[in-house]
Amino acid sequence: MTRVFMSRPLPERVQAAARARFDVTVRAETGPLSRAEMLESLREYDAVVPTLGDLYDASLFADVPSPRCRLLANFGVGYNHIDVDAARAAGIAVSNTPGAVTDATADTAMTLMLMSARRAGEGERIVRAGAWEGWHPTQLLGMHLSGKTVGIVGMGRIGQAIARRCHFGFGMTVAYHSRSEKQLDFPATRADSLLALAGSVDVVVIAVPGGAETNHLINADVLAAMQPHAHLINIARGNVVEEAALIGALEQGQIGGAGLDVYEFEPRVPDALKALENVVLLPHIGTAALEVREDMGLMSVNNLVAFFDDQPLPNGV
Ligand code: NAP
Repeated sequence: MTRVFMSRPLPERVQAAARARFDVTVRAETGPLSRAEMLESLREYDAVVPTLGDLYDASLFADVPSPRCRLLANFGVGYNHIDVDAARAAGIAVSNTPGAVTDATADTAMTLMLMSARRAGEGERIVRAGAWEGWHPTQLLGMHLSGKTVGIVGMGRIGQAIARRCHFGFGMTVAYHSRSEKQLDFPATRADSLLALAGSVDVVVIAVPGGAETNHLINADVLAAMQPHAHLINIARGNVVEEAALIGALEQGQIGGAGLDVYEFEPRVPDALKALENVVLLPHIGTAALEVREDMGLMSVNNLVAFFDDQPLPNGV
């Protein structure tokens, strides 16, 4: 029977769907795989369901010359932790779970936009500290989102879902930066450059994939171009933002605030960030809803089934 290795416990429905067809081993730990575990997964299993943090890099494939593994059916749309070219050269296909994550991640972006613009984290800390002295007209004044301009960096599935929420829900003007012009069913203007976008919007939202190409795309220059009242939201990958530069910009009040779901060296969150009032810090909960994690897992299982039925991979990357 085809042996499948799941690198983390996935929701029960997903495990049941996989077990109905495969001989499934579910690793009990919730943290990333060690190198030894990844080597074993390539040697001992026909397919692996890896996820964020499981670093299948080129050196790993080089150390397993004749892998038993033929498919990495990634749980998640982001696959920057897998060297896809090296996997392919080793005869291993890779799939991901696009679409299943889109709305939930866009919702998380809106959560961060609202929390950052309206100083919700700061307010919550005041209440919990017993320091709230009651309502008054000039307390905790934030930025009103309605009618403002959002700048989406990376107008893909999630970027567009965020833009729709901003346009239809908040009456915001939408601008974006992308490598290619997009056909969109809502009004949006493509900026001439990332710096031009950064300088002209009230909220910058990052929705590009992680990886070498987008590493530190948001650097000190981009942060310096932003308006002093503008907010930066990152629901993409931590390495897209140069975290040290962001800390500097927040400390100096160079930008209005930031909302982060992901971190450059997560799960390590710098003390300097935790010390700041003008940043909202979430623990990478972009897709953290049971139905969404079930949909993602079932999509991984669909990829496994199609692959071992010799059908085209539905979500090959
Ligand atoms: P997608 O549909 O592929 O969209 C990514 C967009 O980024 C594309 O439209 C692409 O546009 C643009 N892009 C890529 N490289 C770029 C660059 N160098 N400069 C400017 N734009 C660039 O992917 P998605 O489904 O929206 O997901 C996006 C990312 O979100 C994922 O890769 C993942 O890392 C992250 N994510 C995070 C969470 C979370 O829990 N926080 C959850 C889900 C996903 P062009 O190709 O036209 O240039």
